Amino acid sequence: MNPKELTDLSRLCIHTITLKPWNIEEAAKKFSAAGVKGITVWRDTLEGRNIKQTGKMLRDYDLTIVSLCRGGFFPAKDPGKRKLAIDDNKKAINEAAELETSMIVLVCGADPSQPLEDSRKQIRDGIAAILPEATAAGVRLAIEPLHPMYADTRSAINTLAQANDVAEALNSPMVGVAIDVYHLWWDPMLDKEIKRCGANGNLMAFHICDWKVPTSDLLLDRALMGEGCIDVKQVRSWVEAAGFTGFNEVEIFSTAHWKENQADFLKKIIVAYREHS
Ligand code: ZN
Repeated sequence: MNPKELTDLSRLCIHTITLKPWNIEEAAKKFSAAGVKGITVWRDTLEGRNIKQTGKMLRDYDLTIVSLCRGGFFPAKDPGKRKLAIDDNKKAINEAAELETSMIVLVCGADPSQPLEDSRKQIRDGIAAILPEATAAGVRLAIEPLHPMYADTRSAINTLAQANDVAEALNSPMVGVAIDVYHLWWDPMLDKEIKRCGANGNLMAFHICDWKVPTSDLLLDRALMGEGCIDVKQVRSWVEAAGFTGFNEVEIFSTAHWKENQADFLKKIIVAYREHS
């Protein structure tokens, strides 16, 4: 990596949820003015909007729409609920196509009333069920493994090895993996599994933030890069060594940061990206 690449913003993407108090129009305007080049759109920000026009608005601000967040939540003991999840994922694929983004991030889901292995099977079946629509729409599906603390209700896919297994079993260029440092930093197999992911052409996305010490909330206390204990630069070096050339996506859920002046927080994100990513 040359020094210029360390400091430029051409591969910086920010998730809309990171600056949650801003609506998508305000986020687009402020990201663009700050030199940010990518945006990942959370579905809630599209509510009540014409999605095609919103996509055009983002591109007019010279923003690449890196992905739509999020699909998934496939498992349920009740088959009726599984069917509803498939329908919602097909809707997300349509939204991604209208937005003209080529990727949906999948938070795969889990149902605590059944064994994790049943949830994992339903995740594989769920992705297989929406794959024809995703392929027809040209929308890739990125499986995001979540930290094991979320194995109760948010995801039965908790390690990069498990995500790689699912992506490889489905064996489609439209299915891959999203690597998020927050969920995977603790895994002693991380470097090895990143290599495997890249070698199989499955490394589709890279999400960054930091793990605060101590963490006061398991969902809403994520930190800005440099505020916690994750060596983001190290993980980024592994991801890039595995061939990843896409955006570095800043995804932070933080009640504390949402309470700040968001323009100041955006400035901090850019400084942290330059110094700690
Ligand atoms: Zn993520």
